[in-house]
Amino acid sequence: MKYLILLALLLLVGRYLYKRLGGKKRGQMSRQSRTEVLKQDPVCGAYVPEDEEFCLRSQGELLYFCSKDCMRKYKELKR
Ligand SMILES: [Zn+2]
Repeated sequence: MKYLILLALLLLVGRYLYKRLGGKKRGQMSRQSRTEVLKQDPVCGAYVPEDEEFCLRSQGELLYFCSKDCMRKYKELKR
């Protein structure tokens, strides 16, 4: 009988933790899906979010850069 109570308690704690962790994860994921569209910086290879201010339209394609420096370098390379 003792073991049954212990088991039930463990199950409850486990479910509580699972719910908490699951909820947290879902919250993070929905937050990420809004901002985590990453584009690769063609100069240094860094991944930058799509709402990055340093972006350039090149041959109908939007390119994103991690910094003004990289954007400048890309323009220089293009020339
Ligand atoms: Zn860069």
